[in-house]
Amino acid sequence: MNQPFLYQSLRITITFNLVEQAIINRLKPLDGSEWDGNIKSGCSVTKAERDKLVTDIKTKLETIQGSYCIYCGIHSDYRGHLQREHILSKSSRNYPNFMFEPRNLVLACRVCNMDLKRTKDFGSKERIKYRKNTFSIIHPYIDDFNRHLKFFGSGHQVLIQKMPYSRKGKKTIEVFELDSVARTVERSGLIDQYEKHIDPKFLGTLALVLGKKYFK
Ligand SMILES: [Zn+2]
Repeated sequence: MNQPFLYQSLRITITFNLVEQAIINRLKPLDGSEWDGNIKSGCSVTKAERDKLVTDIKTKLETIQGSYCIYCGIHSDYRGHLQREHILSKSSRNYPNFMFEPRNLVLACRVCNMDLKRTKDFGSKERIKYRKNTFSIIHPYIDDFNRHLKFFGSGHQVLIQKMPYSRKGKKTIEVFELDSVARTVERSGLIDQYEKHIDPKFLGTLALVLGKKYFK
């Protein structure tokens, strides 16, 4: 059974091989529709090539992020499949140029992606150079969650508060409702469920592995 939630900063981004990069280059200029819309006339990329590229992005993200939503931290076992998410929205009126920018790509649950975040703009309108943006929420590739959020709850991240003076912490909590009663009760219930069903054999093996210092 997987730990039910995890807030994590990501230290590596996905990379594209030469074939993938060539497809991305041929899709340009990007206007927002290239991700899942029709291929524009005159573009040499086939729909099959584009669809494979987008599918492979999800697989690559799963490798570095696991199955935890980047915003609420909840595992896909409890929230359904994770969706590919653009931190800065790829829509034409926002940041279509960053559609394939590795630092802009994460996985998020449907609730965080579709119900809460939608196409809200958390950048500073710099549309050419990604890193020139200042971000108003915690950015998983740039920021350290622990510098912006405080966690409480017997070894688990059940209660969440912003760190003093962290505007990004405040905004992230606000947008994704991380300190709402409903979310807090949900996390508490998940931990209960997790602890009751955890296989004691697993704990024994874990203690053995930790004792042997396989993890540093
Ligand atoms: Zn989520």
